[in-house]
Amino acid sequence: MTRRIAVLNQKGGVGKTTTTVNLAAALANEGHRTLVLDLDPQAHATLHLGLMPGRSGPSLYEVLTQGLPLKEVRRTVADNLDVCGSHIDLAAAEVELIGTVGREVILRDQLAAEDGEPYDFVIMDCPPSLGILTLNALCAAREVFIPLQAHFLALHGLSKLLETIHLVSKRVNRDLRVSGVVLCLYESGTRLGAEVVEDLERFFESRRQASSPWSDAQIFRTRIRRNIRLAECPSFGQSIFQYAPTSRGAADYASLAGEIQGRAPAGFWASSDQPSPAAEPDSDGEVPAVPAHSPRADAPAA
Ligand code: ADP
Ligand code: MG
Repeated sequence: MTRRIAVLNQKGGVGKTTTTVNLAAALANEGHRTLVLDLDPQAHATLHLGLMPGRSGPSLYEVLTQGLPLKEVRRTVADNLDVCGSHIDLAAAEVELIGTVGREVILRDQLAAEDGEPYDFVIMDCPPSLGILTLNALCAAREVFIPLQAHFLALHGLSKLLETIHLVSKRVNRDLRVSGVVLCLYESGTRLGAEVVEDLERFFESRRQASSPWSDAQIFRTRIRRNIRLAECPSFGQSIFQYAPTSRGAADYASLAGEIQGRAPAGFWASSDQPSPAAEPDSDGEVPAVPAHSPRADAPAA
């Protein structure tokens, strides 16, 4: 059974794309067949995975607006790792789909029509809004991961996000569950980080109703620490595991991949492995192998 995960927060800059790409790469490294769907017109995940939007053929724009099958858009970027890319045109889908009946479930239906290419994980990178692209992700997903940056406005907007998830689960997608919050850009050892975690626990506790999609939501034990290598690798079109495999960023995303396999939603296969705790800080001063050229400049046309 495929785990379909929407990585969602309507705020920008919280770590959605970084988490989508590097979590997908970590899972693929472990042998899980993984598909990334880039639903953000900014196409950051597409670029991060080494593809040039537009130059690598049709994108999710054609899937959503013209009914092109996903397999026509899918590209393999590494062992076990495929991506359906985005393009700036996707921004127009919001308007173009206004008169289309069932426009929220196009992606769900396209995924259901996929056969012969079963994935263990489908991970969807969402745009920083709660429009039709995000609704397509929520209708196609079974789980939501919410990346959050631990600063004093972290919880601002969370109620609105949960309300949207609640409506989708009530009206269209009964199976939808918030699996957890991923703390990104985490400053370990700061009081603020610890305070945000406490606030977050209180927030979920106060809203925990048995029937709500977030009744089992957890804060993942793995914190994604602030690590400069994570900020550098997108411009090389590489995941952290290609760019700086010994960095803290790689350790944290490998740890998150381990943890989520031990925390499947009810009804899913559950691994008996205990998730490993967040990796200890390593010496991060090493100079990673920097590619001689940027793949962006001559990204593969396929
Ligand atoms: P979003 O997709 O939510 O807008 P991104 O994943 O693009 O957020 O992250 C925003 C910025 O922060 C990017 O420049 C990214 O490279 C950087 N970034 C994300 N996570 C980390 C981290 N753990 N350490 C350092 N930089 C990070
Ligand atoms: Mg993004």
